[in-house]
Amino acid sequence: MIKNVAITGGTHGNELTGVYLVKKWQKNPKLIKRNSFKTITKLMNIQAIKEIRRYIDQDLNRSFSLNDLSNDKLDTYEAKLAKEINILLGKKGTPNPNMDFIVDLHTTTANMGLSIVVSNENPTTWRAIAYLCKMEPKLKVYRWRGDIEKTFVDSIAPNGFAIEVGAIPQGVLRADLFLQTEMLVYHLLDFIEKENKKEDIDLPNEIEIYDHEKLVDYPRDRSGDIVAMVHQDRQDKDYTLIKENDPLFLSLDGETIGYSGEHLYTLFVNESAYYEKGFAMTLARKRRVSLVK
Ligand SMILES: [Zn+2]
Repeated sequence: MIKNVAITGGTHGNELTGVYLVKKWQKNPKLIKRNSFKTITKLMNIQAIKEIRRYIDQDLNRSFSLNDLSNDKLDTYEAKLAKEINILLGKKGTPNPNMDFIVDLHTTTANMGLSIVVSNENPTTWRAIAYLCKMEPKLKVYRWRGDIEKTFVDSIAPNGFAIEVGAIPQGVLRADLFLQTEMLVYHLLDFIEKENKKEDIDLPNEIEIYDHEKLVDYPRDRSGDIVAMVHQDRQDKDYTLIKENDPLFLSLDGETIGYSGEHLYTLFVNESAYYEKGFAMTLARKRRVSLVK
């Protein structure tokens, strides 16, 4: 039984879709009210939202490892904020956390369309995702497996995921993707209501997902500066297969650098926030996963 749901926005202060959806729902709480559970909304990184920046000192959405949450020596703005949020929505890893499900709203400058990023293995989370895929056939699911320890906001609760939509520049609202994100959240709340009421939900037996394989960094010089950009033929090609020798980067001198490796799918192609993280895109394998009934 899901009793408490949190919808969080502005975990990254320059991703306005989540910020303004939360503001909308704080003014009109009826829109997210369902009978069988309670839903709260939260604007996350208040200072970064004010400054329309991703974060102040460190990425809040990488600040929720159990180690960091219990480390009193960490005292950056986001490290302290993560501990406050963990008390409000968690605590993470405890038997009775305050939230049963967290949906964290993000946008990306990459052409990711309407996506879910999930790192949760809980069957209820996956049934929710299957329901959303049924209701929104263009929805894509990326299973993130790049961390040893889960550090995302949604890892505080037993269930949850992030919604990522794009392409949206940082600090910008786009009505089409705002509406799609909003609709996806309503579908999620409807699913939880049906699940709580033990309604018979017709779900697919399996869903198609993109499983994280690896990160691809930019070509760099000895000082670490990038010396090439994403090739024009790869730009906007999210959820698209890349094969041996396909153009990958274009050097500043105009030389094409080809891809070498297994045939995989490119995601988060040229995401602005990842320049500093040291990757130009992620590679994923398309597969079908069956659902635990
Ligand atoms: Zn984000």
